[in-house]
Amino acid sequence: PREVIEKTAQAVLDFNGSGLSIMEISHRAKDFQPVVDEAVALFKELLNIPEGYSVLFLGGGASLEFCMIPFNFLEKKAAYLNTGVWAKKAMKEAKAFGEVVEVASSAEATYTYIPKDYTVPADADYFHVTTNNTIYGTELHEDLDSPVPMIADMSSDIFSRPIDVSKYICIYGGAQKNLAVTFVIVKNDAVGKVSRYIPTMLNYQTHIDGGSMFNTPPVLPIYAALQTLRWIKANGGVAEMQKRAKEKADMLYAEIDRNKMFRGTVTDKADRSYMNICFVMNDEYKDLEADFLKFATEKGMVGIKGHRSVGGFRASCYNAMPKESVQALIDCMQEFEKLH
Ligand code: PLP
Repeated sequence: PREVIEKTAQAVLDFNGSGLSIMEISHRAKDFQPVVDEAVALFKELLNIPEGYSVLFLGGGASLEFCMIPFNFLEKKAAYLNTGVWAKKAMKEAKAFGEVVEVASSAEATYTYIPKDYTVPADADYFHVTTNNTIYGTELHEDLDSPVPMIADMSSDIFSRPIDVSKYICIYGGAQKNLAVTFVIVKNDAVGKVSRYIPTMLNYQTHIDGGSMFNTPPVLPIYAALQTLRWIKANGGVAEMQKRAKEKADMLYAEIDRNKMFRGTVTDKADRSYMNICFVMNDEYKDLEADFLKFATEKGMVGIKGHRSVGGFRASCYNAMPKESVQALIDCMQEFEKLH
């Protein structure tokens, strides 16, 4: 949100009236610990995180967590649901640590749906899911049931709906979507159970013990995240974020379904993401794809080109995206239809 960006920009110029930038203070400076503490407290409050979990702010992105997860939790066998590029990358890392069972995959259909009928082995150490598939626009709108503890990559949908954290031993995500920092929510007593040596920086225990301050954390992203968490709280919390996300998504999907020039790519409507809305030109208008992109860009649309691996269009409607911006895209689509 604009106000989050403005407050963060102000702290880059002058943090808490100290005359110093947030980027040049020590992370051990007395004014910074309260930033981390409040961010952790708001995480716990907004997501209703039960006792016994830690919230960590780390560097390395979700991609480093793909490796830290199996390093810390995979003793013998882990189950993964293959719903896209990110799930596949997570599986690739896990294979270095033990047996990886792909319980189901929608790769054969370019990940345009989320598989439903599969069995999670009861002897797996964990079951890993990607709750929102940023590239393909599919999303799990509810927490699944699993016979073993779950782990979720929530990089692109965290804070967009209430979650039952107790179903998970770990939830993690990268930055630059609903939050500016890489985060990990980890169940304390699930850590320390594997028999291998874990390098210090890759061991969750290090960061639990150090309160994300074992070494210099991403200070500026944590500050920006705190402003975002305050904004979410002031705007009604995750239930309200979910309501707004659904409203925005319903508006845009309705136009995609109505407009003769476009169609959605996700085959099972129940799987349609509220965060990343993917669509293509209908076959008879395929030749106009570049024209629509140019038309929409000239009208001020930014970043609606689909991911390079799927093409078409992707409207990312993260929490900060106002309804008016979604309406502006709809207007573009309607004007383009009239022109043709
Ligand atoms: N997982 C998901 C669902 C993502 O959308 C992304 C990035 O877009 C990643 C993982 C990778 O995140 P990072 O760039 O922080 O490694």
